[in-house]
Amino acid sequence: MPVPAKLPPFDAGDPLGIDDLLSPEDLAIRDTVRGWTADRVLPYIADWYEKGELPGIRELARELGSIGALGMSLEGYGCAGATAVQYGLACLELEAADSGIRSLVSVQGSLAMYAIHRFGSEEQKQRWLPSMAAGGTIGCFGLTEPDHGSDPAGMRTYAKKDGTDWVLNGRKMWITNGSVAGVAVVWAQTDEGIRGFVVPTDSPGFSAPEIRHKWSLRASVTSELVMDDVRLPADAVLPGVTGLKGPLSCLSHARYGIVWGAMGAARSSFEAALEYAKTREQFGKAIGGFQLTQAKLADMALELHKGILLAHHLGRRLDAGKLRPEQVSFGKLNNVREAIEICRTSRTILGANGISLEYPVMRHATNLESVLTYEGTVEMHQLVLGKALTGLDAFR
Ligand SMILES: Cc1cc2nc3c(=O)[nH]c(=O)nc-3n(C[C@H](O)[C@H](O)[C@H](O)COP(=O)(O)OP(=O)(O)OC[C@H]3O[C@@H](n4cnc5c(N)ncnc54)[C@H](O)[C@@H]3O)c2cc1C
Repeated sequence: MPVPAKLPPFDAGDPLGIDDLLSPEDLAIRDTVRGWTADRVLPYIADWYEKGELPGIRELARELGSIGALGMSLEGYGCAGATAVQYGLACLELEAADSGIRSLVSVQGSLAMYAIHRFGSEEQKQRWLPSMAAGGTIGCFGLTEPDHGSDPAGMRTYAKKDGTDWVLNGRKMWITNGSVAGVAVVWAQTDEGIRGFVVPTDSPGFSAPEIRHKWSLRASVTSELVMDDVRLPADAVLPGVTGLKGPLSCLSHARYGIVWGAMGAARSSFEAALEYAKTREQFGKAIGGFQLTQAKLADMALELHKGILLAHHLGRRLDAGKLRPEQVSFGKLNNVREAIEICRTSRTILGANGISLEYPVMRHATNLESVLTYEGTVEMHQLVLGKALTGLDAFR
């Protein structure tokens, strides 16, 4: 073992030296996204969150397009062709600002664009992907229905052939970006099994009323999709897939981004708690000087940086074409659960200030309640891992 002349200093922001794993290009991409959130999100997010809106979402989408964040790891059609690790780093920075911003990017890139890129015809790709990559067209992804969430196989939305056309009827629920989308990727039953449809949202019979009164992901547009005899041409169907494996493979890609993103929310909360602990005084000294506070900080740092290391490991496997869906479940289950715990513990360090929107902690914690549920609930990922470990299917 080499004996170093001098050890690098301890870095509280990167105690394990994980940045050593990153290339100069990785670091540049991370800095670009971090800089964008510092200018365009962080000064306003508390206000947007309080009002329950994401004003200027179209402008934000264009700016995200201009920094290459939309469909970032896809190749061609105006997409950045970044590595999975680079995409993950971007998700982490976006979610360090707010899970709503990361959701906008995930749904656009990993769900709507990914579906078209992977399963679409050349014509569909040419028509939609360049404008989605630039942020000129926002996309949404309609899988969940009012009565079918974790178990989408029983979805009721139906596309029926009428001559060469398709006629789409049904309702989707909890759809991110729905009301602002120009294109919706909608999954529906057909006589041949579940198929995906690329639906321009100005199609007659299509509407997307916004869902209000959310106490989580408040700076994110969430909507119903209502399809009432929406007539689509024969080439609206995604030709490359039939069955649930279509939407599930898109979800696996989006979940991968969440593995990183959740650690962004956790990092932001941890940093707020660490700073507070060093400056807030009680009983005559900084609360960070008490052993109980240090135990909290140390335990949070362990889970935060273990989680980032895990995300990095999964990213490398994805770049090597070796990432299995069970491994994505492993990462999503662990990192979102640990992130929410870090937010809750950070909240205790901030005392009463922890519940204020002056600090990001409670906002992240409430956001993560959605992140815990969407893209597969905790229980679904436990069942995925349970099945992989035992060979026994406990879903039914
Ligand atoms: C803010 C937000 C944005 C969203 N965006 C989108 C989007 O863009 N597109 C989209 O299609 N969907 C979206 N969703 C929907 C999300 O994917 C679903 O909420 C999720 O799949 C869970 O479905 P559900 O809410 O119907 O819960 P249910 O499936 O009804 O589950 C309720 C509870 O029962 C548990 N459960 C269910 N089955 C089992 C079982 N077999 N064993 C043990 N426990 C079980 C679940 O784990 C959960 O705890 C979004 C949701 C939210 C909150």
